[in-house]
Amino acid sequence: MPDKKLNIAFIGSECYPFVKTGGLGDVMYALPRALTRLGCGVRVLMPMYNCIPQKFKDGMTYRGSFMMDQCQDGRQFYVGIMETELDGVIYDFIDNKEFFDWGNPYTGLWEDIPKYCYFSKAALAALNYLEWIPDVVHCHDWQAGLVPVYLRTRFAGTPIGAARSVLTIHNLRFQGICGIQHLKYWSGLPDYLFDYPVFKQNEDEANMFKGGLAYADRVTTVSETYAREIQTGFYGEGLDGHLYYHRAKLSGIVNGIDVEQWDSAADKLLVAPYDASNVLQAKRENKRALQDQLGLEIDDGKFVIGLISRLTDQKGLDLVNAVFPELLDENTQIVILGTGDPRYEGAFRYYESVNKGQVCAFISYNEALAHRIYASSDALLVPSLFEPCGLTQLIAMRYGTVPVVRETGGLKDTVAPYDITTDGGNGFTFDRYEAGLLSDAVHRARDVYTNDRPAWDRMVLRDMAKDVSWTVSAEKYLDLYREVTEGK
Ligand code: ADP
Repeated sequence: MPDKKLNIAFIGSECYPFVKTGGLGDVMYALPRALTRLGCGVRVLMPMYNCIPQKFKDGMTYRGSFMMDQCQDGRQFYVGIMETELDGVIYDFIDNKEFFDWGNPYTGLWEDIPKYCYFSKAALAALNYLEWIPDVVHCHDWQAGLVPVYLRTRFAGTPIGAARSVLTIHNLRFQGICGIQHLKYWSGLPDYLFDYPVFKQNEDEANMFKGGLAYADRVTTVSETYAREIQTGFYGEGLDGHLYYHRAKLSGIVNGIDVEQWDSAADKLLVAPYDASNVLQAKRENKRALQDQLGLEIDDGKFVIGLISRLTDQKGLDLVNAVFPELLDENTQIVILGTGDPRYEGAFRYYESVNKGQVCAFISYNEALAHRIYASSDALLVPSLFEPCGLTQLIAMRYGTVPVVRETGGLKDTVAPYDITTDGGNGFTFDRYEAGLLSDAVHRARDVYTNDRPAWDRMVLRDMAKDVSWTVSAEKYLDLYREVTEGK
């Protein structure tokens, strides 16, 4: 008998191409599409932010509206539903100007707490209103953290109350923490939930993510290693004990990338698009073009190391900063693309100024340049302090660029270390968070590049052949949905 078709509602605060500020937006876009291809019915629910580009707003239709009580004192709020469809996925936008008419999706916790209390409840109410009852509501990050709690309390006994819930952690650093009274008022949830097992964080504060993690039927995060790491003090962001307690329902599924968006053979931003058959030649051409564009010495024999990153502590840039001069030699060039902490921006600008022609620090966000750096570099550096999944190492491999990464989170799960004895592996790795080990990994990479080019080239081809698409991970999510709805 064929498997029953599953309907899944994605609930989250951002989704490409409407609004994206980080990896969450990519997952909310790519995973529903992949699940649709696997035969699921998928609806994505997100806020109707004012900053959604007009061309998308113009394509939406009004599906209805109703009033909803939200707060402890029964205050009523308007809920409008605007709808659009893209490649088989239906998107429902929760419309309320009071909450979503600000400039950016996230404006500061004081406003964000009421905003996402309202959104979590309105999304469930909208599913009841639309009479579209999914088998699973799949919620994302703290902004949708109240969904599993509402589902089992205020919505128990309503049609949507029959759905199961999955909550995915994309970034544990942000949790939606505020005073207990603030959350009590805005969520309108009963007092007994504000005790330690659910929302209570300490004597004064409540934590939205913590409550969601307690009430969700399943919790996932974006790599298996990160799922283990967040149960420890170093990575747990204060929730390690809570996550350890709930470990039986916690698992990791690694993200994929959109292989149409990242396709070196069809990439119009490259001077020489390529596939595995001509990668070695084309990389040299792309490298010369990049060197020319960035004012580096034009020489396709140089070992070019790329770094594309938000410039924050998470990304391990204090390590890079500490050993920068050691990473360079006369045959090496380093290209940095990123913005963020002025400390790192300044340091990399300095290294550029004293190594003209050899180092380029491009301090900005530039999608086109990112494509060219992925294609033209020999190695990509990702030495993160923590990395739930990481996308840059996946894009690098797809473009035949060898990643040099720290063994943490998704970096550990996706980059197998080079093994000279079996001629296997996808990149160069180091374990402890130490600048000397980063420097050593870069030296090992350069050594193979310089002294054993055939082995290097075989690694380039292995990386390009690696499946970094959503196909495998979407199947894993589907298995999880089947498991959680079993016997329903
Ligand atoms: P995070 O979400 O923690 O920033 P990820 O590795 O998951 O890190 O995703 C980063 C994404 O942002 C990648 O697609 C990368 O190419 C892109 N990116 C990061 N910095 C820049 C930049 N300065 N310019 C262009 N793209 C960037």
